[in-house]
Amino acid sequence: MRIEFRRQEKIARCLDPSKGFAESRVRTEIRWDPLTCESARVSHFVGFQLLPVDFSGEIERSRARCPFCPERVLDITPKFPSDLVPGGRIQRGQAVVFPNLSPYDEHSAVAVMCREHFVSPSGFTPRILFEAFRACIDYFDHVAHLQGTDFLLVSWSYMPAAGSSQLHPHLQVYATDIPGNLLGTELAASLRYFEAEGRLYWADLIDEEERRGERLVARGRHTAWLTGFVSLSVLSDTLVIFPEARTMKELSEEALEEFSRGLAQVLGYLDSQGVYSFSLGWFPGAPEAEHFRLHVRLTPRLYIAPRVWCTDSPTLSYLYRDHFMIRTPEELAMDLRSVIKLS
Ligand SMILES: [Zn+2]
Repeated sequence: MRIEFRRQEKIARCLDPSKGFAESRVRTEIRWDPLTCESARVSHFVGFQLLPVDFSGEIERSRARCPFCPERVLDITPKFPSDLVPGGRIQRGQAVVFPNLSPYDEHSAVAVMCREHFVSPSGFTPRILFEAFRACIDYFDHVAHLQGTDFLLVSWSYMPAAGSSQLHPHLQVYATDIPGNLLGTELAASLRYFEAEGRLYWADLIDEEERRGERLVARGRHTAWLTGFVSLSVLSDTLVIFPEARTMKELSEEALEEFSRGLAQVLGYLDSQGVYSFSLGWFPGAPEAEHFRLHVRLTPRLYIAPRVWCTDSPTLSYLYRDHFMIRTPEELAMDLRSVIKLS
């Protein structure tokens, strides 16, 4: 068992009307994730360009009744029972954490990240990001000793293309014994690798990516930044691995600061490319999972054709679970290398 970046090229032939029906050959590529073995495609996409979406009207309309804005958040959001979180809510910097009225699990919260109703991707400062994620860790400090809290999950759906109905920046925070499908698959595959090789997959992945020089972006004291060989976004994903931590609760202040600094830089870059929406997920192990390491996946989201609200989740990815990339992870890594400065 070793880390293999398996890919297969396929050539499609057609008689192209734009060339007088001369034969045209178009290359596609299928890749398999070196850990999960899940496949994805690198596809040619005729005339693709990231088209802007004007949210300005909706930003103003939603501001007047936003439950997360500072003039309302403490009056109309729920509180935790005092035996779970004394005082009812957690506040750190601009961040406020309170129970989710539509919970995903027994321990399910929302973290409003900042006071501003709308923040563009480049507007998230390292301080805002640090305090928001640190507030999530504060919540986990209150519940992680309870039953059924093996996995401490934080997810960020930023703007409607990522499935967020509220524009005000917020995180979903929950502790669960059910890791979900992708994290569950990663946990099982990491354990198989650990048992077969006697080494950590995540450490070997970083070393192998550094040796190849195709997708490694940067290494800091506490984090390694790369792009996903098999990405879920058509624009490719950024992965951040914490080689020393299994859960967010194990992160030192310095590690979270380094992550927040790099994330602000990546978000600024994505904004400069016209990205207006993304999904970000923290993937932890259980505290005792020696075979696993904490990592974050950042996946740009978009409307393929905003005029008709055409999402980036067609049947191929939604039902067949076969994602496709238009921009390759190698191209993204090349750009990010000049963006990320961790020290
Ligand atoms: Zn708001």
